[in-house]
Amino acid sequence: MKIIKEGNELVLRLPLLQKENNFYKGEEDLIDTQNLIGVVSGNEYTISQLNDLSYKGDQQEGMPIIYFSSKEELKEACKTCGIDIWEHPLCAYCGKVIRGSSTWASKGTQCWDCSNLENLEASPLS
Ligand SMILES: [Zn+2]
Repeated sequence: MKIIKEGNELVLRLPLLQKENNFYKGEEDLIDTQNLIGVVSGNEYTISQLNDLSYKGDQQEGMPIIYFSSKEELKEACKTCGIDIWEHPLCAYCGKVIRGSSTWASKGTQCWDCSNLENLEASPLS
């Protein structure tokens, strides 16, 4: 990231691409991949760092860099810059944002906390 002053504006320069992170490949075989990702997480809209984990065929959301006030504002910025958007699902039981894995239950996507609670209540030991 590079921060500069242009007139009365603070300008952030963020690379749109990064080299994939794959120690199984030689340096010359590493391809470019996205460096940033748009994230919709409930009512939070950000452009975040994209952590490339090509060595295990995965990518993860990293630290948020820019916050937007609406989904439309985020979509517009991502469209302008060619950045993909990930939207995290919400738990159909508690409404929390689900990052990572979840399960499927009768009402829809379910977070692990709600799933564990349900399993505890159904347990013959409780
Ligand atoms: Zn839940």
